[in-house]
Amino acid sequence: MDTRIQSVKSKAVQEFNQSESLEELQQLRVKYLGKKGEVTQLLRTMGQIPAEERPKVGQMVNQLKNELAVIYEEKYAELESKIQQSRLAAEAIDITLPGRKPKAGSLHPLTLVLNEIKQIFISMGYQVVEGPEIETDYYNFEALNIPKDHPARDMQDTFYISGDYLLRSQTSPVQIRVMEKQEPPVRIIAPGKVYRSDADVTHSPMFHQVEGLLIDEGITFADLKGTLQVFARAMFGPDTKTRFRPSYFPFTEPSAEVDVSCIMCRGEGCRVCSDTGWLEILGSGMVDPRVLEHVGYDPDKYTGFAFGMGIERIAMLKYGINDIRLFFNNDQRFLDQFK
Ligand SMILES: [Zn+2]
Repeated sequence: MDTRIQSVKSKAVQEFNQSESLEELQQLRVKYLGKKGEVTQLLRTMGQIPAEERPKVGQMVNQLKNELAVIYEEKYAELESKIQQSRLAAEAIDITLPGRKPKAGSLHPLTLVLNEIKQIFISMGYQVVEGPEIETDYYNFEALNIPKDHPARDMQDTFYISGDYLLRSQTSPVQIRVMEKQEPPVRIIAPGKVYRSDADVTHSPMFHQVEGLLIDEGITFADLKGTLQVFARAMFGPDTKTRFRPSYFPFTEPSAEVDVSCIMCRGEGCRVCSDTGWLEILGSGMVDPRVLEHVGYDPDKYTGFAFGMGIERIAMLKYGINDIRLFFNNDQRFLDQFK
């Protein structure tokens, strides 16, 4: 009997000590100390041993029961604290780790360039006005001295919507809308999206223009030259030279294309300016008297000039960008460079 008790004891102590989870420990308690457990079974066999040995054996079994209960309690506490420790370790926050910065957005390069253009003209007393992107044939062409059979309509591949409606191919219609409502003097710039059926590395079917218009008494071509010179120097640097080349636009007469000295080579000649030393940046001219008549201004009393430029082209020159599509691809690596 003594050896049976000893063997149950050593087996139980070993198993209790080796248990690794609370569930396993629970099962061991049932296995040894439960109603049908091995220790309880030992007490049941008391009837088979001689009466004089029973008190001693009973005492030994009870002692074993108490010892195993103590081991169980200790092991239970140990496992519970282990679980607690590992939970704490998993939830630990390392406050010495550097934080993750939220990504800050930035203004689009076209917005930056447009803001700069606006500032330059606002400082010269111009007002910023906007107009609709869906226009009628009248405002986009007719009122700008481009009748239906005029060959200048072929200069712009226009997106027609239906009937009389089209996506404006220039921001010039805004000039007409302003002049219809307002008596001279008029001094405005009109920025906005324009649309033409054209796409390659330097052309996009949607792009941005800024159009300028000044009408008053006694305005001459010298005012146009002076104004655009001030703009070119403010935009591209104080050493920038300008050059006016005769050109043709239906709504201005005379008309001129304006070049600035190459901002890459300062006029020496390079790949960007095709070794000419000059870069074309805008079209301009004195407003054709017929356009003034269209809106009810007296062309004998008032004269004025208009000019227009592509914002993408100015941004490409200013930042040395060689593909217009980069502006519209939303590539973060490109956009981040303008922060
Ligand atoms: Zn150059």
